[in-house]
Amino acid sequence: MAKHIFVTGGVVSALGKGIAAASLGNLLAARGLKVVLQKFDPYLNVDPGTMSPYQHGEVFVLDDGAECDLDLGHYERFTDVSLSQENNLTAGKVYETILYNERKGKYLGRTVQTIPHVTDEIKRRLMLPGVKDPDLDVVITEIGGTVGDIESLPFLEAIRQLRLEQPPEDTISVHLTLVPYIETAGEIKTKPTQHSVAALRNIGIQADFLICRARQAIGDDARRKIALFCNLPPEFVFDGQDVRSIYEVPLNYHQQNMDDLMCKRLQIEPPMEADLGQWERMTRIILDPPDRVRIAIVGKYIELKDAYKSITESFVHAGIPNHVGVDQVWVDSESLEGKEVGDRKLDEVFGDCHGVLVPGGFGDRGIQGKINAIRYAREQGIPFFGICLGLQCAMIDIARDVAALDMANSSEFDPATPHNVIHLMEDQKYIEMMGGTMRLGAWPCKIAPDTLASQCYESSEISERHRHRYEVNNAYRKQLQDAGVVFSGMSPDDHLVEIMEFPSHPFFIAVQFHPELKSRPDRPHPLFREFVSAAVAHQDRQRGQQAEG
Ligand code: GLN
Repeated sequence: MAKHIFVTGGVVSALGKGIAAASLGNLLAARGLKVVLQKFDPYLNVDPGTMSPYQHGEVFVLDDGAECDLDLGHYERFTDVSLSQENNLTAGKVYETILYNERKGKYLGRTVQTIPHVTDEIKRRLMLPGVKDPDLDVVITEIGGTVGDIESLPFLEAIRQLRLEQPPEDTISVHLTLVPYIETAGEIKTKPTQHSVAALRNIGIQADFLICRARQAIGDDARRKIALFCNLPPEFVFDGQDVRSIYEVPLNYHQQNMDDLMCKRLQIEPPMEADLGQWERMTRIILDPPDRVRIAIVGKYIELKDAYKSITESFVHAGIPNHVGVDQVWVDSESLEGKEVGDRKLDEVFGDCHGVLVPGGFGDRGIQGKINAIRYAREQGIPFFGICLGLQCAMIDIARDVAALDMANSSEFDPATPHNVIHLMEDQKYIEMMGGTMRLGAWPCKIAPDTLASQCYESSEISERHRHRYEVNNAYRKQLQDAGVVFSGMSPDDHLVEIMEFPSHPFFIAVQFHPELKSRPDRPHPLFREFVSAAVAHQDRQRGQQAEG
């Protein structure tokens, strides 16, 4: 039987519960245990797929096509496990199941209620990973939101019931709280934590472990005080001080013996001591890289870093084998539009950047700015990497500028364009429902030999995750090839363009999928790794020229 760890948060949101849960998973996996993480979100959307990135940040996509909360990205990166749709539950999905069952007559004769029907369905889902995989040692479930929210009550009630039904050594409640530093008083305050733990206790859950998020380690006096008021031993009150890199968090927890204490409390004998050597080496390079490069990211959600979370992390990973830190320069694509945007302005924006990345996105806002950025990178020989919408914009740029296809566009942005080099495939044309209907999840792709893609991947067959509706229009493939484009990655039936490159340029590659979803700190994605390597080479060239000049 798998043991269960429940992670809740209190006082404020955005404490980094996802990172905390992922770090716990990382540590227990480093002890040789088989761990899986899941996230239960109390909102009513069936999944976050239809939400704007302004709501909950990036939508993370799994191999099976599930559109998920971005915390699943942290789970995959910290534990190197590929998760499935069952690992992300929302209240919307719970109610969808219950209402479906009700209409089918499953509850015939009974009143359908929050307790027991909603809580039973949540409990079923809490247990599901352990039921499906008897070898699983630990299931870590993070509950979204903050204790005290109305909508999280059924989730917490389900946990309360489950803890009562299971032997005490089979479950742990881990609560993450904020211990603020009050500038004017010059001290930290423990009262919000006391209140938050009391609120959890009111629901019937005693926190077993507390992780105190604070600017610095809270110190032993505060630890004893919190322990006393929160009804737990001081050694179960952990420091969760701010760190420079999220990859330090598991190391910080390990230093405080969290893995040992957790295994003791759960009465599990882990097969080995924590093997964190590689994680430590990796973190050291992340914190103190010998050199840096600058990469411009031209997008439209730039004020919200969570919108491009996996891309940001992929650059952190890609820096490691290249021995550099990647400074990400966020450029608002709308600022690159309009008549006044000529090469002078673009020189100013990109002059000190060593690479340009155009990420995914939806809708026509800022598109011309992205196209301008791509043209500039293409003409100036700056390494370019396009992702999903980035590939579509690169196609539009080359169609207009090199293949002389005037006013070429994607039918997403201009349905009346004379040259729809990007268009909807037949099977997308008649879809009316918005949720879960894009080309989603892992699709196979074959790589042509002697291309930049084959150099990066060192493989002729790959699988990558998708999330888009529009595709390269095959009717224009010949014209684009004549203009110098190479289609280096194709679906196995040759029908869908997955990767394009422009070999007359030092490094110009764009992909229809989302490689950032599969990068791991100890296994950086080959396209990000090689893109950063090209940026390093570009910087070296620039430095050489400056030294000569
Ligand atoms: N809007 C484009 C499409 O739907 C690109 C999507 C994306 O970048 N994820 O095809």
